[in-house]
Order: sequence, then structure tokens, then C-alpha cells
Amino acid sequence: MAGTTVIAVSRLTKSYETAAGLFPALKGVDLTIDSNQVHAIMGPNGSGKSTLLEVLAGQLDPTGGSVNAPAGLRIGMLSQDVDLPDPFERGDQRSVRQAYQDLLGAELAEQAPLSRFGLIAGRDENRPLLALSLGQQRRLALAVLLADPPDVLLLDEPTNHLSLLLVTELEAAIPGYPGTVVVASHDRWLRRNWTGQRFEMAADGDSPV
Ligand code: ADP
Ligand code: MG
Repeated sequence: MAGTTVIAVSRLTKSYETAAGLFPALKGVDLTIDSNQVHAIMGPNGSGKSTLLEVLAGQLDPTGGSVNAPAGLRIGMLSQDVDLPDPFERGDQRSVRQAYQDLLGAELAEQAPLSRFGLIAGRDENRPLLALSLGQQRRLALAVLLADPPDVLLLDEPTNHLSLLLVTELEAAIPGYPGTVVVASHDRWLRRNWTGQRFEMAADGDSPV
């Protein structure tokens, strides 16, 4: 259903422990994510976008405040940095196809073939993962997410490493996405062209408006 709040963030704070003491990356963020809507969290580098997404994804515990979401809500995230897990410890020489299958299971990998979205060229499927560029590895991570779409898809800096063309395609694809999308980006092109909901992070981690 469109327009209902799926994630409510209230007074969210996150401080990192550093050698110089606690560093406040988020200083009281309030925002609501609506179901079946595309949202952008925009702001300069260092403004806390990745920290916020990692908290939403449950990868990072907040220092204070709350994140309310329905029980069982499936949240998936394309991280800013490539992090393709290797659950069977096959190493970087495993093929792209093998990595895809390991992460999805054989059945799902067959139902949703890697070639489906054109994110990875067919000729690359048998290459070792190590031979892929960072951009290709991120495309693979995205293909894994899209094969079994979560209720909420978080995309951290999708324009990094992914070609402008792909991002345009992704944007075109996103309105039809069967769920909710949150994009974090500092990209000026995306900022100018974004037509969905938007939050602007203050430079110092204050709540977006
Ligand atoms: P953005 O994604 O908007 O560039 P980040 O969430 O990555 O912002 O970072 C927000 C602030 O928190 C930055 O000043 C960054 O240096 C700091 N920061 C991020 N991760 C850590 C960490 N693990 N330890 C200490 N400081 C961090
Ligand atoms: Mg970031």
C-alpha cells in the first residue's frame, strides 16, 4: 500500500569511538520511510548517510533514539563498498556464476538467472570473481539483491562504480520495484534529476529536512 510509513526513525544518534574520543556521526535524525516510494538521502561526504543506512539495515547499533519497523520486514542493502560474502570459503578464484549461486542457493539462482538484468555480461559469468572490476562486483551484489527483492532496498552511493547509464536504467527500473527504495547519494547529477522523496543531511550529521 502506498503512503504508509514502513520505517520510522526518531531522534537517532550514532557516535563512533575513535582514538580522539566519541565522534557524533548522527545527532538526532528524524525521518519516515513510506512503503512503495523511492527516497533519496542526500548530503555531502561525511554527513552520515552510510551510517544511517547501516543502522536501518541492522548492521550497526545506534547510540540512541529509535528505528521502528514491522516485525519480519526484509531490508537489503547494496553497500558503498563491495562486500560479497563467501559463505563456502571458496576464495577469490571462485567464478562469478559460483559466487551468485552460493549467495542465492542453486534453486533461486536458476529461477533468477544472473543474465536477467543485464548487470553482468554473459561472457563474465565464468571468469573468476577476482577478475571483475569493482563496478562489476557491485553489479553482481545488486543482481543478488534483485533476485530475491527485499521489502526495502537500500542503495548506498549507487552512482559510484556503476555507470551513469546503469544508474539511469536503475532509476527507470526503480518505480516498478515491488517495494521501497532508499538511495544515499552525494551525486550532483542524481540530486538535480531526482523526482522521488528526498532528505537532505546537514553537513554535521544533524537531522535531514
Ligand atoms: P557519508 O556516507 O555521508 O559520507 P558516513 O556515514 O560514512 O558519511 O560518515 C559520517 C562521519 O562518521 C564521517 O565523519 C566519518 O569519518 C565518520 N565515521 C564513519 N565510520 C566511522 C568509523 N567506523 N569510525 C569512526 N568514524 C567513522
Ligand atoms: Mg557514504
